[in-house]
Amino acid sequence: MAIKRIAVLTSGGDAPGMNAAVRAVTRTALGRGVEVYGVRHGYNGLLTGDIEEMNLRSVSDIIHRGGTALYTARSMEFKTPEGVKKAADKCREMGIDGLVVIGGDGSFRGAQDLTRAGIPCIGLPGTIDNDINCCEQTIGYDTALNTCMEMVDKLRDTAQSHDRCSVIEVMGRHAGYLALNVGIAVGATSILVPEVPFDFERDVIARMKKTSATGKKHFIIIVAEGIGGVVELAKRIEEETGVESRATILGHVQRGGSPTVRDRVLASRMGNRAVELLLAGKSNRVVTIQSDRITDYDIEQALAMKKPFDLDLYRTAHEISI
Ligand code: ADP
Repeated sequence: MAIKRIAVLTSGGDAPGMNAAVRAVTRTALGRGVEVYGVRHGYNGLLTGDIEEMNLRSVSDIIHRGGTALYTARSMEFKTPEGVKKAADKCREMGIDGLVVIGGDGSFRGAQDLTRAGIPCIGLPGTIDNDINCCEQTIGYDTALNTCMEMVDKLRDTAQSHDRCSVIEVMGRHAGYLALNVGIAVGATSILVPEVPFDFERDVIARMKKTSATGKKHFIIIVAEGIGGVVELAKRIEEETGVESRATILGHVQRGGSPTVRDRVLASRMGNRAVELLLAGKSNRVVTIQSDRITDYDIEQALAMKKPFDLDLYRTAHEISI
């Protein structure tokens, strides 16, 4: 069946670069003579009919914006079999032959359900945590890295001025990629991530004392959200080392901001490929990047994949922050 009309939506947590992906999907499809509809508020928009036809200018002036112009949401109703059927019926009613879903693993599970209900779907990885196992780099991750780095640099200025220790929580409930790479970029004394077991005395206190003995007076400790407890950690550090310590949770500011070059280019390449896949009759695929090549996997296979944590990079980080 020739694809005549497709739709695009953003789902789950927003990430900088989602707009660039929506733009690429829209422009690629329209350029190839395929109509495009934008679905607002993720899967909810399919249930409520919050869907609008896009033209070439609908996606003007969004490539540089963070967040998502299509809005995003988490939809409980869509997770039910009735919800999936309702969404698929809505697509059929509107003549939508294919759907591009930009989001994370949860959104891909939804895309899989919708594909099974007869609507071919393609997933694009959009999440700042980089926690999509089939993919080396997700849309939004590079921007979040840079945002975190800039904010920690600012905290460092004040930590340095007061000879303090700054204990900083960065996003990543189950994944420490953001924490590890930001930690290296800011020269953190210690980085705590969910993937690597740690011993507080050995990996934080002893490291601080050792560097203190060589003249270091201010410290940055990066803690992934999945470890949490930064207020208590800061208190313990102050008690055990005598170094005045402050805790900061960077929070949602990490999600925002204008996407970096890298995220804009990645999102543009992935959005372009998503449409190509739909037009080639493919469905239930996730677009990914590996060794700078855009490729794709079956969603089920992608969800079952494992991405080993880079223990060597973790080791490097601590070897050079002495
Ligand atoms: P992310 O896509 O960033 O992982 P969520 O896990 O919140 O974010 O998923 C986004 C939406 O995808 C959910 O609100 C829900 O509508 C849908 N979804 C999530 N998990 C499933 C699932 N197991 N089956 C079907 N749909 C799902």
